[in-house]
Amino acid sequence: MPTPGLDGYTPSWHKPEHDDLAELARDFFTKEVLPHADRLERQGHPDREHYRRAGELGLLGLSVPEEYGGGGGDFTHEAVLLHEQQHVGEGSLGLAVHSGIVNGYIAEYGTDEQKRRWLPGLTSGDLIGAIAMTEPGGGSDLQALRTKAVRDGDDYVVTGSKTFITNGGLADLVILAVKTDTSQGAAGISLLVCEVSGDPPGFRRGRLLEKIGLHSNDTAELFFDDFRVPAGNLLGAEGGGFFQMMAQLPQERLVIGVGAVAAMQRAVELAVAYAKERTAFGKTVFAHQNTRMVLADCATRTRASRIFLDDCIVRHARGELDVPTAAMAKLWLTEGQCEVVDRCLQVFGGYGYTTEYPIAKMYADARVQKIYGGTNEIMKELIARVL
Ligand SMILES: Cc1cc2nc3c(=O)[nH]c(=O)nc-3n(C[C@H](O)[C@H](O)[C@H](O)COP(=O)(O)OP(=O)(O)OC[C@H]3O[C@@H](n4cnc5c(N)ncnc54)[C@H](O)[C@@H]3O)c2cc1C
Repeated sequence: MPTPGLDGYTPSWHKPEHDDLAELARDFFTKEVLPHADRLERQGHPDREHYRRAGELGLLGLSVPEEYGGGGGDFTHEAVLLHEQQHVGEGSLGLAVHSGIVNGYIAEYGTDEQKRRWLPGLTSGDLIGAIAMTEPGGGSDLQALRTKAVRDGDDYVVTGSKTFITNGGLADLVILAVKTDTSQGAAGISLLVCEVSGDPPGFRRGRLLEKIGLHSNDTAELFFDDFRVPAGNLLGAEGGGFFQMMAQLPQERLVIGVGAVAAMQRAVELAVAYAKERTAFGKTVFAHQNTRMVLADCATRTRASRIFLDDCIVRHARGELDVPTAAMAKLWLTEGQCEVVDRCLQVFGGYGYTTEYPIAKMYADARVQKIYGGTNEIMKELIARVL
């Protein structure tokens, strides 16, 4: 992950190829997507064309094996992409879910036939991916989910609903957590890949949810009413879904952490630049000692966060990122993001509260980081369990 501006820190896993990727990603986000940012915010979802363009540039599926249309890289490449997206302030494309999560589930648990069927479309951007675990009745207690799938001949018949689904408005493929055995808790949960392009019978998208932030990314409710899914779309073994989710959640939490650190870095850079320009009492705001102390604190928190994240990425690359450590990263990095962005916003005075300045949007966008991917209270539970 390159470090424009803020500090000279280079992650231990960094190779020259990461710089080339960062440049490509940065150019794409700044030159091709950000010019449409206001329109995307108003429409409440990204442009499908931007997914296709990202695919064309080879930015989707960086860690997917080449034989399935991917880049043949690993999580460090996904981390660079997500860092660049956050760092330049692009928030419409749901890449954290599409590339950081969905591709990973299919690459890890799909059969060869499933991978050949879905991964090329996901990496080209012709298919947009989502993952649906949370239900209106609750998200933290996944074992209690109620959407059920009953086997009927060669199909499963799915009934239930999901909410808060990132990319839910545009998604073509939804990895759906269902109960295939309602008499069981965790052992009754399975994952079905639902092909929902064109809204087939039995599937319906609800309205796009109106949120306090992340306005240009689609978050939707999904409804399943006797929706038929071929049994061949089961991901992994029946009853294995909960364990698959538990195995993948550390990466999901790392993805959130990458975004948190990139946002902290951007906030500090924006605040430093503003403080050096704005004057009060005859000198720049930066020349007031308190501002320098605040920004020094924020820069230190950002650097320490990057180092913790870097350590987690290295562990993850070795297959050794355990659940409590990933939970610590998600907890501490997102708490840090909210704190740093808030303190940086203060440096902007009244302008920080106006949507004219990106720091205001960053403030609203940051809040959900403490909620999704497992709330921070649940992270503390996971950490406390091993104490
Ligand atoms: C913008 C956005 C995008 C999202 N994207 C997705 C997505 O793509 N896919 C998906 O499946 N979900 C997604 N979510 C859902 C998100 O993961 C859930 O909102 C989250 O897991 C919490 O579930 P809940 O909202 O039902 O809260 P609840 O589970 O009802 O929790 C309510 C409160 O109680 C606390 N609480 C619950 N249990 C405990 C406990 N044991 N100990 C202490 N406190 C507890 C929680 O921490 C929280 O503060 C998204 C949410 C948002 C807002």
